[in-house]
Amino acid sequence: MSRTERAVDVLVVGAGPAGLAAATHLAAARAGRVEVLEREQEPGGIPRHSHHRGFGPRHRPTTGPCYAKRLADAALAAGAAVRTGVTATGWAGPRTLDTTGPHGLERLTAAAVVLATGARERPRSARLVPGTRPAGVLTTGELQQAVHVHGQPVGSHAVVVATPGDDAVARAAVDTLRTAGAHVVALVTEGTRGPLPSPRHRFPLLTGSTVVELTGHGRLTGVRIRGDDGRGALLDCDTVVFTGDWIPEHELARRGGIALAPGTRGPAVDTAFRTAVPGVFAVGNLLHGGEPAVGAAAEGRGVTGPVLAHLAGTEPWPGGGVPILVEPPLLWAAPNRVDPDGPPPLGERFTLRVAERLSAPVLVVRQDGRVLERQRLPHTALPGRPLHLRARWTAAADPGGGPVRVSVMSDSRRTGAGGPPILAV
Ligand SMILES: Cc1cc2nc3c(=O)[nH]c(=O)nc-3n(C[C@H](O)[C@H](O)[C@H](O)COP(=O)(O)OP(=O)(O)OC[C@H]3O[C@@H](n4cnc5c(N)ncnc54)[C@H](O)[C@@H]3O)c2cc1C
Repeated sequence: MSRTERAVDVLVVGAGPAGLAAATHLAAARAGRVEVLEREQEPGGIPRHSHHRGFGPRHRPTTGPCYAKRLADAALAAGAAVRTGVTATGWAGPRTLDTTGPHGLERLTAAAVVLATGARERPRSARLVPGTRPAGVLTTGELQQAVHVHGQPVGSHAVVVATPGDDAVARAAVDTLRTAGAHVVALVTEGTRGPLPSPRHRFPLLTGSTVVELTGHGRLTGVRIRGDDGRGALLDCDTVVFTGDWIPEHELARRGGIALAPGTRGPAVDTAFRTAVPGVFAVGNLLHGGEPAVGAAAEGRGVTGPVLAHLAGTEPWPGGGVPILVEPPLLWAAPNRVDPDGPPPLGERFTLRVAERLSAPVLVVRQDGRVLERQRLPHTALPGRPLHLRARWTAAADPGGGPVRVSVMSDSRRTGAGGPPILAV
């Protein structure tokens, strides 16, 4: 089957908060023809099927669908073309994407490509949970789509498996199950604490517990768990929802040969959202799963300046910059490359994640053994929650030097003396 070939100025892949915000601001800034591709039938990304309030500015939260519609309307009003039901399937050149959609196969070449393909929760298969392969095994995203988009039944007795730190998404799963009329048998987490109970989110909470087996043929009949003390139990249920534990939707980036950061598993980007491939940018949860939608939208807005500079040809594509590596118990940093002469990151800060609870954390930034910065954080660092490293040290980094290394010291754990990095970009 032949492909139609077209050229646009900016091609955005993914019409979630990040992609729609990027398209809105680029179209408003007269970046030429700005086109957004979305594989689903409706634009809006994850918020489209997250019917709880909690989206948008903190002081004026709204529901996910309302937030999604607001973003999509803004993109259209600004003059961006939003094409739904269209999937970018691969690359035919550095900035040429092959797509498939209702009008057949296309090949689109753009002066700039913005990848905004988001993140998803790690499914049961990738969590390597043993047992049979019954129906009734979902992630929160799948659960919400089934209930809110397709109106499908989801069973009557459900177990929710929460990832430590990703409390909001576990609560969203509980809410959606109740909306669908299901009884929540228990919320199970490996952590020492789960989401804080509230009158709205009351559920039996089993902490320090791991799911070791799913049972049932055809339909799920139970979830076997094991506690930290070695004791086991079989919870009767016909539905299990695995929540949180984000992985970027990075297949398209990988197929384009774009270097990924091993910590985030999203594209490695510098402080202007530039990947290693000239003309290709990346924003949103593709770079760091589990951040709030307003953060993803802010990155979409933030990529406008760098894309315009690229279109105008005023800035050469940088040679890559200096990689930022993190040391345990830090898990990742985003952005994860820095050019001392480049722009500061969005909000003048880097986002990091930590693997364990740390009280009175102090972040230490070094390059080639030289301390560039020490920052004491005003709060306890928790797994699943962002911590921020202010960017005031970047101009002091040596562009010809070795990687910048970020470590953390804490009253509850002393590290940072130079252990091996676990994130190498
Ligand atoms: C259950 C749940 C509850 C949440 N609750 C909240 C909350 O209360 N408040 C909050 O602020 N945040 C919440 N979040 C997080 C929020 O949804 C994300 O931060 C936000 O959606 C990320 O935006 P994004 O644009 O980066 O990615 P996404 O919203 O994931 O959008 C990416 C889009 O790209 C499309 N896409 C991917 N690959 C392709 C391709 N190859 N071709 C075409 N299209 C493609 C996808 O279909 C998708 O629509 C929640 C998330 C979940 C899962």
